[in-house]
Amino acid sequence: MTRVFLVAAVFSGALLAGCQTVETTKGGTVGVDREQRMMVSSEEVDASSKKQYSQMMAEAQKKGVLDRNAAQVQRVQAITRKLAAQVGAFRADAAKWPWEVHVVSLAEVNAWCMPGGKMAIYTGLIERLNATDDEIAAVMGHEISHALREHARERISRQMGTQMVVGIAGALFGIGELGQGLGNMVADVTLNLPNSRTHEVEADRMGVELAARAGYDPRAAISLWEKMAKTSNGDQPPKWLSTHPAHEDRISDLRAYSAKVMPLYQAAKGGGASAGK
Ligand SMILES: [Zn+2]
Repeated sequence: MTRVFLVAAVFSGALLAGCQTVETTKGGTVGVDREQRMMVSSEEVDASSKKQYSQMMAEAQKKGVLDRNAAQVQRVQAITRKLAAQVGAFRADAAKWPWEVHVVSLAEVNAWCMPGGKMAIYTGLIERLNATDDEIAAVMGHEISHALREHARERISRQMGTQMVVGIAGALFGIGELGQGLGNMVADVTLNLPNSRTHEVEADRMGVELAARAGYDPRAAISLWEKMAKTSNGDQPPKWLSTHPAHEDRISDLRAYSAKVMPLYQAAKGGGASAGK
């Protein structure tokens, strides 16, 4: 018993030492303000992300699936550029991130943003959903929000916490090994593992605000989800749904928050001169 207690004390001591509470973003109009605990620095995560992203895009290039349709690429770049121009509403430093987007010719309905602003959208999402500009802005606004909130860093921190426990336990008992490389973890949490409900709600709310501020109809987030849901009736449910699991209240939450940011949208569209500022 004493031994178990000692082991527990070693764990919590180790975890506390490497852990910091941070505020990644300001609340914005939608008021996302949860405290986050991190065990790895932004710099480390962003450096790994940049490296992984370069490798993945080089691989896409080699397979001939990178940015094949110039008009489509320009369309996506224009939308993400407008969204990225609004990130200052949530965090000033992100305005200077090296934002980058590529269109990958894959049938999968998917899009993502790795830490530090490295994005991709697949042709499957654009074409199979017949996505409007507002809907593409909804998807990318949601993805960008995950990056602004550093959800990947938070999830990695959580994984590291678990692995550190395993690692220490392994060392103590003469077995086991400490986890996988950071780069793999970054890719894994961005592309493969499902986000938590908490992260989804935050990305939904911030996503509609970014879209509205950029002049895209925030209500498109609702039609986007409805289209996603219809597509999932087939044999191959959208990959995006597996990494961004739907929660029961999502549509009503999106309705409420898109209504809340409508004045920002109207001001951005120039129709609300009196409502602006
Ligand atoms: Zn998400």
